[in-house]
Amino acid sequence: MIESIQGLDLVQEINKLRVQKNAVILAHNYQIPEVQDIADFVADSLGLAYAAEESTAETIVLCGVEFMAETASLLCPDRTVLLPDTQAGCSLAQSITGEQLADWKHQYPEAVVVCYVNTSAEVKSLSDYCCTSTNAVQVVESIPKNQEILFVPDMFLGAYVKKKTGRKNIRVWMGECHVHAGISEESISTARKEHPKAEFLVHPECGCISSTMYLTAENGKGTHDARILSTGGMIKHAKTSSNKEFVIATETGILHRLEKDNPEKSFFPVSRANVCHFMKMITLEKVYRSLKEGVHRVTVDESIASKARIPINRMLDLQRTSPASAK
Ligand code: SF4
Repeated sequence: MIESIQGLDLVQEINKLRVQKNAVILAHNYQIPEVQDIADFVADSLGLAYAAEESTAETIVLCGVEFMAETASLLCPDRTVLLPDTQAGCSLAQSITGEQLADWKHQYPEAVVVCYVNTSAEVKSLSDYCCTSTNAVQVVESIPKNQEILFVPDMFLGAYVKKKTGRKNIRVWMGECHVHAGISEESISTARKEHPKAEFLVHPECGCISSTMYLTAENGKGTHDARILSTGGMIKHAKTSSNKEFVIATETGILHRLEKDNPEKSFFPVSRANVCHFMKMITLEKVYRSLKEGVHRVTVDESIASKARIPINRMLDLQRTSPASAK
């Protein structure tokens, strides 16, 4: 579909501006299909961080939410990072502020902090390690067993990590993403009963799915044979599996890529209501304006950035040296 303003072919105009401005367009899997289709690279938050770091473009247009643009800006301080809509936030990232984390650390001065990538740069600057849903267990296992850990801000991911690692010395912040409510134990059971031949795939990106990860660790109803796959893993699996039907637990945005790559197969979301409205705020028109007017530039003050890079780089280094890298 071609969106237009004042008779402009937006796809054509974006393509011209992308060359003129030496820009790369990075889009998260949860973006609307039109935005995914004009992006140079579509991935989860870890993939976008790598893509930003590896790109040589002068301008990075980040079609995702604010913390992703901040992460790109932290990793590429010499480049211009643009977020096409400043309202594209994240309810999970907003569930803890720097001040709240500083207070919590004050109560447990011996603890180290592991923060989910869905956090502000300020929260990252107060953390020791960063993680995504895919590598959270691996990151926690890299920390000495007797070291107390404060895990922020996703309570479901924290509970999942506690269960998987068997560690009792993890304190979990009670934050959550508003989208996860769309995927309940009941909705998983119902979707699986409706599609009894389908494989059950779980995409562990974002807080919208961490409650399902927790259920799989607990063996909740209908989740015992779930395959938890990264973006790349899910796309590869859907292509190579002999199965023709899949029930997918994730925000609905990833279905676009799966359906595009596998037109002969059927993908059923656990719930059509599992939509992150922050992720749907970016439109082709906003991407066009972003490139044309150089808005909205995302920068992080160097006093925060220098500290926030430490936990991010620890995670990226661990991921690079892992044989099971999700990259
Ligand atoms: S799905 Fe949830 S965790 Fe992910 S960006 Fe949206 S609000 Fe944040």
